[in-house]
Amino acid sequence: MSTENSSDQLFNNSVKILTDLIGFKTISGEDNSSLINYCDEILKKLGATSFKTFDDEKKRVNLFATLKGKHHSDKKPIILSGHTDVVPVSKGWSTDPFIAAIKNDKLFGRGACDMKGFIACTLAFAPIYAKANLDRDIHFSYTFDEETACIGAPILIEELKKRGIKDGICIIGEPTNMKIIDAHKGCYEYTTYFEGLAGHSSAPHKGVSAVEYASRYVSKLIELREKLKERTPKDSIFDPPYSTLSIGGIFGGIAHNVIADKCHVNWETRPVVKEDGAFLNSELDRYANEVLLPDMKKVFLNSSIRKNIIGEVVGFNRDEKSNACELISSLTGDNNREVVSFGTEAGLFQEIGISTVVCGPGSIEQAHKIDEFIILDELKKCLNLLEGIKNNSVVS
Ligand SMILES: [Zn+2]
Repeated sequence: MSTENSSDQLFNNSVKILTDLIGFKTISGEDNSSLINYCDEILKKLGATSFKTFDDEKKRVNLFATLKGKHHSDKKPIILSGHTDVVPVSKGWSTDPFIAAIKNDKLFGRGACDMKGFIACTLAFAPIYAKANLDRDIHFSYTFDEETACIGAPILIEELKKRGIKDGICIIGEPTNMKIIDAHKGCYEYTTYFEGLAGHSSAPHKGVSAVEYASRYVSKLIELREKLKERTPKDSIFDPPYSTLSIGGIFGGIAHNVIADKCHVNWETRPVVKEDGAFLNSELDRYANEVLLPDMKKVFLNSSIRKNIIGEVVGFNRDEKSNACELISSLTGDNNREVVSFGTEAGLFQEIGISTVVCGPGSIEQAHKIDEFIILDELKKCLNLLEGIKNNSVVS
């Protein structure tokens, strides 16, 4: 078999697997177990060991599978990591979003670039890793519900800690056009619920307007936003360089002449450092609990303010001496390091001491959009990187 034939075969197999993966309708929050079982079967047939971790209802699953190194060395294990969920689809697709369609040099389908393309490449390459004389472990990490504030990955990370897997090099294959991303801000999302007392608008003193307290809360958030700017780290690598804060929506009230008893505020912050997130939350909680709530309770004792954490995706911090970035650079010759504005699971792996890089096929430009696609050539580039990792992981 010539090399050209086997690389064609490898590429064709990655397209076939990607087609299969797109067929699993794994929208965030829904059951992803069929897709996980599909991946698990492929890897098990190759001799991988694996374990699963679950959400409370056991319908959403993380998979962590390992192809063991055949020779001992002090090389760190590699973790190839991708999320299995996709964002929902809106109307207007030219093709069925859950049936892969190839047109010219592109493959269309929900998740094609974000990020089933990467998962398909890792599965297509797995047989080669299995046959190689690996001198380190190669792990495959497939998580659920990344798109909804990284709900799945922390459950997996807890298990990794328990099993003592706290060292290694992790490649998160989010779509970066195979460029090296080594930092992003955190992304914390919240909904704060206000409950007061309804009443006739002609007697505002007899009710507790949830809308009015919510708007005072929003004013406080806007005030704190200015404080976040003052806290800009000197050497910030982000754009904008400070932690941002945004109010996504205020919902409450039923009529002009009714005091609103319910209101909720959706808001988010993107901290450049963890401390900003802690600062913001403690200032805000203090204001809510020590100023607003006592005021509300003066009129109605059962008034409440409840802050619900939708998700707190930790930031991913630049590490000047990153093993993960150095490995990718040595394989691709690309020494550039970039930051992105979207969040990933990278910070979670980094937090437990795993050197992490975000680098994967496809472009974020096509993610979360109608007619999402991946340029087929990107899959080839990703397979080349996986080949490089193999060459770097065999006894020489
Ligand atoms: Zn993604």
